[in-house]
Amino acid sequence: MDYNHEHKAGRIGWIRAVVLGANDGIVSTASLIVGIAASQVAPEHLFIVGLAALVAGAMSMAAGEFVSVSSQTDIEHAEISLEQKHIDRNWVAEEKELANIYVERGLEGDLAMQVAKQLMAKDAIGSHVRDELGITEQSQGNPFQAALFSALSFTAGALLPLLTVLVVNGPLLIPSIVIVSLLSLVLLGSVSAKIGGASILKGSLRVLIWGSLAMAVSIAVGNIFQVSG
Ligand SMILES: [Zn+2]
Repeated sequence: MDYNHEHKAGRIGWIRAVVLGANDGIVSTASLIVGIAASQVAPEHLFIVGLAALVAGAMSMAAGEFVSVSSQTDIEHAEISLEQKHIDRNWVAEEKELANIYVERGLEGDLAMQVAKQLMAKDAIGSHVRDELGITEQSQGNPFQAALFSALSFTAGALLPLLTVLVVNGPLLIPSIVIVSLLSLVLLGSVSAKIGGASILKGSLRVLIWGSLAMAVSIAVGNIFQVSG
């Protein structure tokens, strides 16, 4: 048996935020640009469209991530202060409660009680927060950091289709954006699967399918609403 294996759960939080942001940046910006391009809008407008998509998307990702992480943190803080009240008011009951948790995890009653007493003597609230509420420092996120990471990763993703607009034009533009976007989605999917220890094929296939679908629908819509000139 391999005892040197490395646990990867601790990295999952920020990997998830970064991959989600970059995926979103690629898919939404590329879809918007190919959709508008398919409607035959003058090519010089496409860069502004893409830039607006980048700014709006990055702001919205930051706001969404900030709100979600803050409310999670608020809930955790409320839970912790409630727990502190319980401990202040009813130490003995809280010892029993903690001991019961250890019994459920496999300790014998007497030993569980001994462990509970000793842990509570050292750090009462800490032992309840960890073993009863299941809150660890790892699970606690920083809303500012989460917002910044999401905005930056969205921007990085959105830059790929946006820069393609600057380099390519004419009939090659739509296929180029589709190819650049799908390739980077697959690359991102496999890198994140590799870092997270998940299946690379599954990870890249998933983003490939959703990315293709988003761009295909956008192109179809753009074709329907053509700017007749
Ligand atoms: Zn408790």
